[in-house]
Amino acid sequence: MSNEAPARILVVDDSEANRRMLVDFLTAQGHVCEAANGGAEALERLRSEPPDLVLLDVDMPQIDGLEVLETIRGAEDIPGVPVIMISGVEDRRVVARCIELGADDFLPKPFDPVLLKARVSASLWRKRTRDRERRLTEDLEEKVRALRQAEALRDAMSNMLVHDLATPLSVIRMNVELLALKQSMGLFDPDASRTGLDKISAASESLSRLVQGILDVARLESGQLNVRLSLVECAPLLADVAEMFAGPADERGSRIVVDEQVKGVRVFADEDLLRRMLQNLVANAIKYGGSGATVTLRAERNGDATVLSVSDDGPGIPDHALPHVFDAFYRAPSAGSTRWFGVGLGLAFCRLAAEAQGASISVRSVPGSETTFAVEFR
Ligand code: ATP
Ligand code: MG
Repeated sequence: MSNEAPARILVVDDSEANRRMLVDFLTAQGHVCEAANGGAEALERLRSEPPDLVLLDVDMPQIDGLEVLETIRGAEDIPGVPVIMISGVEDRRVVARCIELGADDFLPKPFDPVLLKARVSASLWRKRTRDRERRLTEDLEEKVRALRQAEALRDAMSNMLVHDLATPLSVIRMNVELLALKQSMGLFDPDASRTGLDKISAASESLSRLVQGILDVARLESGQLNVRLSLVECAPLLADVAEMFAGPADERGSRIVVDEQVKGVRVFADEDLLRRMLQNLVANAIKYGGSGATVTLRAERNGDATVLSVSDDGPGIPDHALPHVFDAFYRAPSAGSTRWFGVGLGLAFCRLAAEAQGASISVRSVPGSETTFAVEFR
């Protein structure tokens, strides 16, 4: 029996002496046995708790072994249990019929213990092999399903990315063509030219931001970005970032506040990476915080950790989206901004940049109340 779990065997025989003999013998071999005294009871047990093997007497009154076998093989609610038929009459036609009906083996009575043991072991071994193969197949099917899903997601992402690159490019092309056309027709309108050039400039800026973002994430992912750690003074850094976004915040009627406690807090980090992380977080807070939001920047000691955070009191991020916001190209479905400069790389960059500095980034959001992205250095 090796170290496999004991097999459950159902012995079906109308003769009590035979049942007891078989059950005693198989129990002594380490199996767990149950007995049924006829076809009806056997079918009931097979349906309620299918065993690993059935020893089935052919000659029984009312429902005989052949009928039970036929029912088992035809019933959808009884899984494919191996069946060994037992009969006192070794009639070749009966044996042939058993095989035809899907029996796994045949045993003549009276029992030869060696033969009985060998056939039971062989049947159980076949069943275990089949079960193992089925589990492997199911496993494999599950993996294939997951791979297909990942592939579909990647396809969707690259489609989105191509779209994100194509939009500003076509803005540039259209405006260049328009300017060229006007010039060739001798129509020079300084105001219209200025507007066209502004559009081109804004579109090229987002295009290069997009490409820069893709390159940054790729470099961080492949560990090709040089990280230079030094002691960074948090107060001037946060003030700089706040200052940088004062204009865009003002445009949306939002404000940026740097918390008082930042004074004197220093952190061992790569200043450039940290600055770009904070820029991404503040840009998000302004973009997604909605108009009139308050964005708060903090840096504080927390035990032996230093935590820098960006909070806003905007609509926040729904629970189902939270586990994904740091994934590359992920954009929460309810996000208000449909402008083409958001591709969902900002937070992926932040996570990779945090990891590159030995820090970690996390998010907490109570929609409508407070959303906080915190970078923790230890
Ligand atoms: P990118 O930063 O590449 O320009 P993005 O801002 O869409 O694009 P991420 O910065 O990675 O991408 O943010 C991912 C998503 O997380 C956003 O699309 C937005 O749905 C959500 N999100 C991020 N910050 C906030 C926030 N402060 N409030 C609400 N939602 C947010
Ligand atoms: Mg962003």
